Amino acid sequence: MIVLVINCGSSSLKYQLINSETNQVMAGGICERIGMEMGDLKHKPAGHEPVEIDVKMENHEVAVSMVLNALTDKNYGVIKDLSEIDAVGHRVVHGGEKFAASTLITDEVIKAIEECNDLAPLHNPANLIGIRACQSLMKDVPMVAVFDTAFHQTIPDKAYLYALPLDYYEKYKIRKYGFHGTSHSYVSKRLAEFCGLDINNSKLIVCHLGNGASITAVQNGKSVDTSMGFTPLSGLVMGTRSGDIDPSIIEFIAKKENKSLDEIMHLLNKESGVQGMSQVSSDFRDINKAMQQGNEKARMAFDVFVYRVVKYIGGFIASMNGVDAIAFTAGVGENDPKVRYDVCQYFKYMGITIDEEANKLRGREVMISTPDSKVKVAVIPTNEELAIARETVALL
Ligand code: ADP
Repeated sequence: MIVLVINCGSSSLKYQLINSETNQVMAGGICERIGMEMGDLKHKPAGHEPVEIDVKMENHEVAVSMVLNALTDKNYGVIKDLSEIDAVGHRVVHGGEKFAASTLITDEVIKAIEECNDLAPLHNPANLIGIRACQSLMKDVPMVAVFDTAFHQTIPDKAYLYALPLDYYEKYKIRKYGFHGTSHSYVSKRLAEFCGLDINNSKLIVCHLGNGASITAVQNGKSVDTSMGFTPLSGLVMGTRSGDIDPSIIEFIAKKENKSLDEIMHLLNKESGVQGMSQVSSDFRDINKAMQQGNEKARMAFDVFVYRVVKYIGGFIASMNGVDAIAFTAGVGENDPKVRYDVCQYFKYMGITIDEEANKLRGREVMISTPDSKVKVAVIPTNEELAIARETVALL
């Protein structure tokens, strides 16, 4: 099957056209600055030079039609006709408690996604705009919603409830949801296969360390706890997000700096994390360079990042009463050997040992623990688009 994977943001739209039989990405790209004075489409067809088109895209429907035109273009298109697209898989950020799995999109499903809008006010409305735009341009093509939160719906109440008055959970569904579910699900399956483990009888920890970062404990193939919470702000230190902090800090800063709640949320989401601590960058390539030049703030930010990862891994080992294998994935997890090495050094006491040469390899699945390590540690590149395409095909 040929599946179009759509990831729609408020002013952008990322896409990939994937052949699900061969796993080949036939084309991919991004529309940016939708709804602004001038936007652009960057289209990368397999085997051709990338194409960049500057064009005003009034709304997402215009952007989707630009994408469809690019895919069928005489010169750089990859299909002759839109009828070759068998299905569309949409990334949807929040499925609340309504969706524990991917689902075929119907009018009722759209309504149920809308009902989750207040849980993800920036993302879900944009995802819905993308779904509607595709529906109006590809009338008879089946569409599937794949949720970031769905994989984590197996987390038990002892792990998802916050110790607030229970009314807040009952009235507003304030609880841990967790995100990056498509990646955690995909990587945990690959990790089990790669390590020769039976996923249904295994204890795995997946460290998705990108600009956004989260760690999930996966027991017998099910998510049992994760570091992100009600929103993606909690848990690990991230590129620009603080991760866990004492909530009283919010009131303290508000009074000291006379800041509004909106301003503080912006501070915690966009100006904190590795960027805020290092005052260098949110990007680990820059942090590594700065550390090599002796920058102390970069060193501190790096150490705080690693230490938080360690605490979550340690906590999840305790909560699962053991671990068989640990995966590192996403931009930092796949590319930064020092992060992986430093994290694993904390677990020497329990017999984790790292093969330093293997740890330098990049761009493919690789076992970085030594053969005698008590716990297997691997780098498993994530592929959210392929996972969405597979989910879509599996459902249809
Ligand atoms: P997201 O999907 O959350 O935007 P990614 O998973 O693409 O993030 O990760 C992006 C991050 O990966 C960058 O901000 C950078 O910190 C890190 N990264 C990418 N390449 C490297 C590298 N070669 N060495 C270290 N870190 C890297």
